[in-house]
Amino acid sequence: MGIIFKPSLQNEPIVRLKDPSTMNQPINNIFTIAQLGNEVLRQQATEVKNIQGDECQGLIKLMMEAVSEAGGVGIAAPQIYHSKRIFIMCSKPNTRYPNAPLMPPTAIINPEILHYSPEKIKDWEGCLSVPSMRGFVPRHNQITVRYVDQKGLVQQKELTGFIARIFQHELDHLNGITFIDQLESTKDLISELEWQKQFASA
Ligand SMILES: [Zn+2]
Repeated sequence: MGIIFKPSLQNEPIVRLKDPSTMNQPINNIFTIAQLGNEVLRQQATEVKNIQGDECQGLIKLMMEAVSEAGGVGIAAPQIYHSKRIFIMCSKPNTRYPNAPLMPPTAIINPEILHYSPEKIKDWEGCLSVPSMRGFVPRHNQITVRYVDQKGLVQQKELTGFIARIFQHELDHLNGITFIDQLESTKDLISELEWQKQFASA
């Protein structure tokens, strides 16, 4: 089912995964997404120079498809083996995040956080690169962000709550950081199954 691996797309370099061990596997297989322990998740991603170019636009399209198939609310380019400063936010309620707010899928390019509210709140996060686990992660509740959108326009916004949380989680991926690194205690890490039992219907 993976759109990445349709033969018609395989001639385009941008849609080919760079890790040979994951080639020719469908995107809805969790292992097509870089998993914790893969070096690409620990690299500092590089700035995108040509936003209108085929490479950037193709990567955005690929990431939108990948996150939709995987049922995520966000995905960062390193998670599909491209160490570039791009992520997608696409919050909507689904089985992984039943209480997520609805927002249109949005490409965030060369993002930065200009201001953080002092207070942090803890809430549950999962990650497509850390399957079967959930962490109770402290994040700043309100942030002022600046990024370039898919059309190349600079955007500045205030984000709060769950959307601010996604932004911070995905920006961390561009800096080689996972949610596990942000935990206050290993006791704040639990299994996905246990999380479903205890919190999903809350
Ligand atoms: Zn993640």
